[in-house]
Amino acid sequence: MTGIDDLPVRDELRGKSPYGAPQLDVPVRLNTNENPYPLPEPLVERIAERVREAARDLNRYPDRDAVELRTRLAEYLTDTSGHPVGLANVWAANGSNEVIQQLLQTFGGPGRTAIGFEPSYSMHALIARGTGTGWISGPRNDDFTIDLAAAEKAIAEHRPDVVFITTPNNPTGNAVPRETVLALYEAAQAAKPSMVIVDEAYVEFSHGDSLLPLLEGRPHLVVSRTMSKAFGAAGLRLGYLAADPAVVDAVQLVRLPYHLSAVAQATALAALEHTGTLLKYVEQLKAERDRLVAELLAIGYEVTASDANFVQFGRFDDAHAVWQKILDRGVLVRDNGVPGWLRVTAGTPEENDAFLDAVREVKKEQS
Ligand code: PMP
Repeated sequence: MTGIDDLPVRDELRGKSPYGAPQLDVPVRLNTNENPYPLPEPLVERIAERVREAARDLNRYPDRDAVELRTRLAEYLTDTSGHPVGLANVWAANGSNEVIQQLLQTFGGPGRTAIGFEPSYSMHALIARGTGTGWISGPRNDDFTIDLAAAEKAIAEHRPDVVFITTPNNPTGNAVPRETVLALYEAAQAAKPSMVIVDEAYVEFSHGDSLLPLLEGRPHLVVSRTMSKAFGAAGLRLGYLAADPAVVDAVQLVRLPYHLSAVAQATALAALEHTGTLLKYVEQLKAERDRLVAELLAIGYEVTASDANFVQFGRFDDAHAVWQKILDRGVLVRDNGVPGWLRVTAGTPEENDAFLDAVREVKKEQS
């Protein structure tokens, strides 16, 4: 049988594994930071309506520039951040993963490098690899905050073309203070200047505010967002960015023509009509997240402060063994490979209860 290594694949892909959170069929799945609430029925109806309209035009290519969608996304960002964002500042693609890929195709690539402060979202490094961008793993403190002095030193030393800052960070859950982001932006400008990508996939769940206002006067800053989490639409694949209009112009150089299907654009527009309802679910999930933190602490686990829809908990001598024990009780959480720690996504109250029962039992077994 032919294997990958028998094919003339690029050297940097040899021996590597694809991104793969297990998709197991268990009663309680709290492993991929999805929103546990299905879209409300009136929204499902509205999606059907808008998709039916779009279907009548499917013989034509979609709006290549997704003007209506970007306008509505800009309004959402303006309304929720108080910072004026317009059509020219916004770009959208199939998930923020594609947004990040387009950014690395534009600002990274062969002979260039990107830095991220790890542990962080593993796809940043994988997309770097896929786009031929060199990857630099920057440091964090033991409590998973960014070690600013060490990060500034790494930027000055490596002079990366792209700097990733994930806030709230995945898988650790903690937000990065605004001053740290500002300091890293300054360091990146002094070193190169380079593009700074603030990945705000989880910002709607944060106790604090979005960093969108920092875009003012900072043309090398990009804020990346997604409808996968707060909008409960992971299956839609809709991510977007806000930045200086020049950045939006630049990513046009690499985007595939008509990359965002008419069906996706219609669906996203329907979801944006229901923003108010969807953000109410976010409030419930924030309360559940805070409950998970409190209960995990009460059980005797350590927890990393969370501004996201998930919680990192530990510490374990053998995190993977504990992951398996929780799975044996019908609950799937995530082992991100952070030694000593696991991550649980906030689910419905019932799912969270099932998770808490499972970890209570595991704790008892261990003590
Ligand atoms: N950024 C971060 C930090 C994430 O955790 C994720 C999803 N897990 C993404 C980006 C990608 O999300 P999507 O492609 O679904 O928009």
